[in-house]
Amino acid sequence: MRKPLVAGNWKMHGSRAENANLVQTLLDLLKPEWSAEVMVCPPFVYLWETGRMLKDTDVALGAQSICAEAVGAFTGEVSGAMLRDVGCGYVLVGHSERRQLYGETDALVARKFVAAQAQGLLPVLCVGETLEEREAGRTTEVVARQLEAVLAVSGVGALAKAVIAYEPVWAIGTGRTASPEQAQDVHAMIRAKVAALDATIAASVRILYGGSVKASNARELFAMADIDGGLVGGASLKAEEFAQICAAAG
Ligand code: PEP
Repeated sequence: MRKPLVAGNWKMHGSRAENANLVQTLLDLLKPEWSAEVMVCPPFVYLWETGRMLKDTDVALGAQSICAEAVGAFTGEVSGAMLRDVGCGYVLVGHSERRQLYGETDALVARKFVAAQAQGLLPVLCVGETLEEREAGRTTEVVARQLEAVLAVSGVGALAKAVIAYEPVWAIGTGRTASPEQAQDVHAMIRAKVAALDATIAASVRILYGGSVKASNARELFAMADIDGGLVGGASLKAEEFAQICAAAG
């Protein structure tokens, strides 16, 4: 049985005070009887403070990115060891905004995945096609390529300590959600690709859906057989709505 995971990606939003308020409001709203694991990814500069607020709670801390290098002259970057040091357990790798706006290639994403695991962080590997790629019938090819770039470097065994997030680029921040069936099709394809290499890992790896998840659509998305929770952007900035999404995951 895969424990659902609901992750909030706060992107580059908030101030110290707003982030602290968001964390505290969320902690007040989450109910111990809900079964989903909850994780939040604030901006780097708020990780430490958020981590302190989450200490002794069941809510996990994640970062939005990681440097592929371990240490050294990499101005502006943050290493996996630093993320561990401030209390992170997870880190997003290959988010489409990193791929599209900052030129992160499949190869770099694979190196970031390795760098995360080298520090004991659980990478959340984000994959997904653009609208143009979907309309050209290339969804499977693109998602498989993004996944295989990591598998080629890390091997399928590495997925035992990772999470996959399917995030169709056309659904991120657009208000346009993939239908539960559209998402399920891609999730099933991803799981089948992993199963072809290792059936046990395929059965246990969590595959999150991301792309305009809201309180109003979360339940039907999470009800699909291969959707194990969500990676939530905009709606995770509203504590009440994010808590409702966590409740919808079980
Ligand atoms: C995201 O940032 O990963 C995301 C899915 O954003 P949104 O929920 O706003 O579409």
